[in-house]
Amino acid sequence: MTAAAESTVTLEGRFARELAELAVPWQAEEAPDPEILVLNEALAGDLGLAPEYLRTPEGVRLLLGNHVPAGATPVAQAYAGHQFGGYSPLLGDGRALLLGEIADDGGQLRDLHLKGSGRTPFARAGDGRAVVGPMLREYLVSEAMHALNIPTTRALAVVATGRPVRRESMLPGAVLARVASSHLRVGSFQYARATENMELLRRLADHAISRHYPAAAQSEHPYLALFESVVSAQAGLVAQWMLVGFVHGVMNTDNMTISGETIDYGPCAFMDAFNPGAVYSSIDVGGRYAYANQPVVAEWNLARLAEAMLPLFHEDQEQAVAPAVEALGRFRSQYSDAWFNGMKAKLGLSSIPAGSAQADEASALVDGVIGLLKDGPVDYTQFFRNLGLAAAGNTRPARGMVLDLAAFDAWAGRWAALKPDAGLMARVNPAYIPRNHLVEEALAAATEGDLDPFNRLLEVVRLPFQERQGLERYTEAPPADFGDYRTFCGT
Ligand code: AMP
Ligand code: MG
Repeated sequence: MTAAAESTVTLEGRFARELAELAVPWQAEEAPDPEILVLNEALAGDLGLAPEYLRTPEGVRLLLGNHVPAGATPVAQAYAGHQFGGYSPLLGDGRALLLGEIADDGGQLRDLHLKGSGRTPFARAGDGRAVVGPMLREYLVSEAMHALNIPTTRALAVVATGRPVRRESMLPGAVLARVASSHLRVGSFQYARATENMELLRRLADHAISRHYPAAAQSEHPYLALFESVVSAQAGLVAQWMLVGFVHGVMNTDNMTISGETIDYGPCAFMDAFNPGAVYSSIDVGGRYAYANQPVVAEWNLARLAEAMLPLFHEDQEQAVAPAVEALGRFRSQYSDAWFNGMKAKLGLSSIPAGSAQADEASALVDGVIGLLKDGPVDYTQFFRNLGLAAAGNTRPARGMVLDLAAFDAWAGRWAALKPDAGLMARVNPAYIPRNHLVEEALAAATEGDLDPFNRLLEVVRLPFQERQGLERYTEAPPADFGDYRTFCGT
């Protein structure tokens, strides 16, 4: 296909049309000297966007929101949110725009969205801009999450704007183009609810059902079914985060999707040494969003969603509460089941059926492995990978990581008796994650104009389970002098 033919990109404006009260038509800021830093050609292909076209001047302008295809209506989305527990009635896209929706090759509508595209009416004191390092961080970590089979928004491109942006120092500006199954958030419902426009709230819920949970429409109580679906999706999502050692860092209700995709990679990080209290965000001083708190916070956020949706469950407030509480009450068991089944897989024990004679032993072994991890500084990712070697007969690498050898030997003996499946373990325990010290190294080089370390790391984390010769450094724990890792909030 020629580039000219491809320039007829069709963006739907469903959100803008159906939920106009939550959408402020807006334009992106012009970029003085744009340059594509990274383009996700495979994802572009899934969306029917030819990479050759996206690399033309017009394509680059599309990725910045400066070229608006005929019929498209870029909008800033309005939403509210609880940030670190405190309620903000009006947040919204201060530096982002929804360009519109595109049907992917499976016929599914996906949002095409920009971050760092300039101030909007929701910008408050912000400058509406983003810088190269944090946008590349989102690109890298979201691609790693996708490769780990964890639901996430995707990154389509990072385009440097050619404009220096004032942060603690002057830094190169950039715009991230991302793709999501939608940008509906818990905060979208909080915002709609606060307008006291029940017809708007219902329209938002109908939009969410149609885009994410069409089966809910067939239910006797579609809105309750929608809520139950979000509870399940989030229980499963947070369990997956916990299983790979991911710390989101800023689980405000405006950063929690209705679709169940991970969104808004700011001060996020993968744990190196196992630590329930791991916090990486420099502003999370109380540890609200620490690793081990994530399931509790997800449930808290879902309670805020239930409150926002309450009038949809029943017109009588009293009668609306009971089913909401019941639905929310299932979060814990759904989360625990997802986490426990994931842990069984990490230990190669998935074939042991629940309720069987060996199930209690499997459960004790899951508790036991957490005990071993808690006992000393043990690199979480490496330990499970090394246990995979132990399942294949070589216990030395895993054994060499723990302090209490007697405890390890006792545990490993019981575990080996259950005949763990080494092949399964190699498929679920990643060898490669975006380790903090490698991410920092790659982003620092990219900020200085050298994209090689970033591109190499991206290629490594795109195949997280397939161990390759020569990539040993990407499996290693950080050097001792890496210290107490902090990320500075992704702005
Ligand atoms: P986040 O923590 O990235 O989810 O952002 C929280 C809120 O702050 C959202 O309403 C963002 O749009 C807004 N925001 C973050 N950074 C900026 C910025 N540089 N300019 C304007 N708004 C921003
Ligand atoms: Mg956000």
